[in-house]
Amino acid sequence: MTSPLKTLEKILKLEQDEGYQNRAVIGGLERFLPHWEQDAIRALRNEQSLRQVRLILELLRGYGEKPLEAREASVREVLRQLQDIAVLERVAQTAPEPEAEALQRQVERAVQTRTAPVASIGLDAPVDRLRGVNAAYRRRLERLGVRTIGDLLYLFPRRYDDFSNLKTINRLQYGEEVTIVGTVWEAKNRITRSGVHITTAIFADGTGTIQATWFNRPYLTRQLRPGRKIVLSGKVDEYLGRLTFRAPEWEPLERSLVHTARLVPVYPLTEGISARWLRKLMKRVVDGWVQQVEEYLPEHVRQRENLMTIQEALRQIHFPDSWERLREARRRLCFDEFLLIQLGVLRQRRVWKQETGHPLEVDPQLVRELAARLPFQLTKAQQRVLNEILADLRRARPMSRLLQGDVGSGKTVVAVLAMLVAVANGAQAALMAPTEILAEQHYQSISALLESLRVDTLERWQAQRVDAPPPRIRLLTGSLSKKEKEQIYREIASGDVDIVVGTHALIQEGVEFRNLAFVVIDEQHRFGVAQRAALRQKGQRPAQDGAPPRTPHVLVMSATPIPRTLALTVYGDLDLSIIDEMPPGRQAIKTRKVLPRERERAYQFVRSQIEKGRQAFIICPLIEASEKIEAKAAVEEYERLSKTVFPDLRLGLLHGRMSSDEKEAVMRQFRNGELDILVATSVVEVGIDVPNATVMLVEGADRFGLAQLHQFRGRVGRGEHQSYCLLLSDSPSQSAQARLDIVANTLDGFRLAEEDLKMRGPGEFFGTRQSGLPDLKVARLSDVAVLEIARAEALEIFRRDPDLTAPEHARLAQRVNEFWQGKGDLS
Ligand code: ADP
Ligand code: MG
Repeated sequence: MTSPLKTLEKILKLEQDEGYQNRAVIGGLERFLPHWEQDAIRALRNEQSLRQVRLILELLRGYGEKPLEAREASVREVLRQLQDIAVLERVAQTAPEPEAEALQRQVERAVQTRTAPVASIGLDAPVDRLRGVNAAYRRRLERLGVRTIGDLLYLFPRRYDDFSNLKTINRLQYGEEVTIVGTVWEAKNRITRSGVHITTAIFADGTGTIQATWFNRPYLTRQLRPGRKIVLSGKVDEYLGRLTFRAPEWEPLERSLVHTARLVPVYPLTEGISARWLRKLMKRVVDGWVQQVEEYLPEHVRQRENLMTIQEALRQIHFPDSWERLREARRRLCFDEFLLIQLGVLRQRRVWKQETGHPLEVDPQLVRELAARLPFQLTKAQQRVLNEILADLRRARPMSRLLQGDVGSGKTVVAVLAMLVAVANGAQAALMAPTEILAEQHYQSISALLESLRVDTLERWQAQRVDAPPPRIRLLTGSLSKKEKEQIYREIASGDVDIVVGTHALIQEGVEFRNLAFVVIDEQHRFGVAQRAALRQKGQRPAQDGAPPRTPHVLVMSATPIPRTLALTVYGDLDLSIIDEMPPGRQAIKTRKVLPRERERAYQFVRSQIEKGRQAFIICPLIEASEKIEAKAAVEEYERLSKTVFPDLRLGLLHGRMSSDEKEAVMRQFRNGELDILVATSVVEVGIDVPNATVMLVEGADRFGLAQLHQFRGRVGRGEHQSYCLLLSDSPSQSAQARLDIVANTLDGFRLAEEDLKMRGPGEFFGTRQSGLPDLKVARLSDVAVLEIARAEALEIFRRDPDLTAPEHARLAQRVNEFWQGKGDLS
């Protein structure tokens, strides 16, 4: 140890022996320190040491005035610091500068090196064929959707840490993310009073030294053996005036680097799988198996669109050489996803177009008469869309049409008119809704509509032509008793029922239509391709006379506005009709952001509306943890509001854990005006129609997607009264506030959907699992440019080789099948 260090150490040890009486130096420790500082500055070589000298002076300042325990603590810390300085000095005096550069070159080579030779096991092999993956790990990986080695290649990183910035220790700056490579000088453990293991290690690279600390990883000292060369990556931190690393990523400098010194992938994790374990496995799998993935894009397409090979894209998405290469990899994989979707839906469309349909007779006179008896006049948009639908109904090929229109634009009426045309042909029509509440609501409004149409018109017409009984309508939901259901099944099978409204119960086994010609599916994004297909199948009774089974016309409706390009791709199997006009006389809903401190005023406002005879919704914050926790929070909020805020008003509660009977009872009460306020979770999102409700208060508004907020807002403003939407949010974040501003400033659902999609991928947007779309892992909607070229290429491929039977498309055909596997009736 250099002498000034030794001197101070001796004095402090003496001080310790004498019980911290400040007698080790005559006249007190503080008198000695200025001299010591001079000596130390002269003797020490390392800049870091000098910083520590200042720290020591700081620690010992006012020593004479400190109580005994404080003296003890300072002396201990100073002794520790002296040890550190000693190590630093040793390094500064011995390590030659060129070592640093040599180490860095070695790191750069190691980043490029593969960990594994090309493997002989196939991509289809289960993951536990891999060394180091046992049954427990296999189960954990399964939770991430990974079964085979090939699946692993398609488990993409969530993000990347940029540790590609390689520096020598003397050039480090506070706060930067860097990588250094150094030799371990020492590593030791200590335990704090609270029982935390702290491992500290000192690394040197010939230009300086730096300390790194880890918590509760005592085994590290065994791996960080002195003399070993280690690569450290992390953010440069500062502790007591010195630059340090806190819990950096590290790995020995060996043949190949995985966790450090590069763009390091960060994978989605699940319990029992550590980031390091998965990353290491990934590196092995990428290096060993990527070559086995076969290119499935025709070469000329790949060239034309300037896309990486699939092998290179997979390699780069996992362990990118640079941000630029990563971008290219994402572009290729995103292209593939859009292309495969598009080829799948085009194929689906073709299959459907080849089926035998139910051509229906459309009597313009009847349609005019029906429309004339509506309590209002159809908007131009409704009329146009109705004509599109009616034109389809006449055709011998089954209709597959998507009807899009914002909440309240009047889709249902249009659908009902078309259903009546089917009924007038003596055929059956069905309408499927995603929830019981919606199904019941449709049932009621259709029943009311039939009433207002003066059913006799229809009857007369029907009786003339097909000698059928008057239209009869039934509601079929899961909550009916078995007996009731069976009764309805019989009526459906015998044709005693003309219109059936229902939930998923409609596609259960046992439901056999006598003559289903027209199917309407509401809030289509809630149903998968498979469910859509299942309902379609219901119409295809095996024909007795050997004629091919007939497929009903299908109209799917959605209030989730989807940008056109996306709609053309993900619903490319459907023709598109859009209602882009609201019924006249609707007052624009006034939307306002509310700060937490204005909550009382918001409640006051709700109260004033109720005093005018109106009703209100209060939406509880979204809790994604589970429906159970969300329900519990909703119950608490309901109780709080009932007891302390609105004790004199009539409140109801609606959440996803209630039985459908309970839900319906509450909804009915609210609709009948027996409740003033409905406290609800996001279950009210779809389609509920209560014209007297004029306030929608959304708590925690920043947690919902913009399109979803727009759906909430659509629950009010459905009657003649001015309506309001209040968005409460606790999030001070600027982006959250900016997003809410967008909702406050536009009533245009499409605009909001576009905004949403910029932030979320289409998979999240639709809820991939619900929509029946294949998983989209890479694609985001901001990738519009890629979407468009992928669509164009798909159309071109399809035009030339619709069945993908050409040899150059063989692998592509296989890939389309894999991609859509288990996603409905596409394969
Ligand atoms: P959507 O299903 O598109 O959200 P609905 O079909 O439920 O909309 O219609 C919303 C409300 O507007 C209903 O009460 C309906 O009776 C009414 N409505 C529909 N079309 C018109 C119209 N052309 N003029 C006035 N009111 C209409
Ligand atoms: Mg609707």
